Amino acid sequence: MDIEALTRGVLDREARAVARAISLVEDGRPELAALSAGIYGHTGAAATIGLTGAPGVGKSTLATALVRAARADGRRVAVLAIDPTSPYTGGALLGDRVRMQEHATDPDVFIRSMATRGHLGGMALAAPEAVRILEAAGFDLVIVETVGVGQAEVDVAAATDTAVVVLAPGLGDAVQMAKAGILEVADVFIVNKSDRDGAAAVVRELRQMLHLGPARPWDPPVLSTTATTDEGIGELWSTIEEHGRWAVASGGRDAKRRDRLLREVESLGAERLRLDLTRALDADADLVERLVSRAVDPYGAAEELVRGVRDEGSA
Ligand code: GDP
Repeated sequence: MDIEALTRGVLDREARAVARAISLVEDGRPELAALSAGIYGHTGAAATIGLTGAPGVGKSTLATALVRAARADGRRVAVLAIDPTSPYTGGALLGDRVRMQEHATDPDVFIRSMATRGHLGGMALAAPEAVRILEAAGFDLVIVETVGVGQAEVDVAAATDTAVVVLAPGLGDAVQMAKAGILEVADVFIVNKSDRDGAAAVVRELRQMLHLGPARPWDPPVLSTTATTDEGIGELWSTIEEHGRWAVASGGRDAKRRDRLLREVESLGAERLRLDLTRALDADADLVERLVSRAVDPYGAAEELVRGVRDEGSA
């Protein structure tokens, strides 16, 4: 594969190159390292928004509405829908095709689903590289939509500049959210489907729960929306923008980004070391034999293994 051409294509904002580059991330291909090196200098300028919540709360509908709002402000917008449950999206979920219709002819909108077939370290490591590809392709706003409210989704949401958590009456109650640790990472809460019975109760319950927690420099607002009729979307968009400005001014955004980068490098390094250790262990029949015959204990074997990999690395 011609990575130089692919990198140029991404920087030249070619939709096909962007799609191919994201497929590389999904598959965890070794060429990723060269691509990453080629685009990194062109990243960092986009704002990122996370949309997290249980299936069915209205994230896709909200994302589409947010794209509309952002386009009205002249922003170039990408939506990255991350689906941890389906190993093969082939780049397009049914939802994408439906959502694409509205923005299909707009070259300044890019919508893409991503699964993590082969990426080491899974979604938490794949998502930031995919976001950087979109940044390098000139999108100044990237909306990262996740499915579900497990730990991986919380991690991905926490890795965006503005984490928006979506609830709806009858779906993904606040207690369940609290357990997933999502209350702490949210910058904005949305209670969607405000046209439905029980929406006001969800808002009340959520506000109560938030008051139980420690005071934070940014008090996450709880907004009501009806995504299907665009109600509350204007306020949501301006709240997201306001949080973005606050995060820049307070230094919180840059601190969060720096921390996120350090954690990412740490995780990438750990994955590489793990591969080295696996390879070294598979290749060391003598060590395995001594371990199995009880000539060396597991702690001693690990020590030997690590020493061997280190010596190899410094040789
Ligand atoms: P996701 O799974 O969180 O992405 O949710 P979707 O955006 O796919 O929405 C799930 C269903 O709820 C769809 O049928 C939407 O049309 C519907 N929906 C989304 N927002 C609202 C809303 O504000 N009110 C009502 N009544 N339905 C909504």
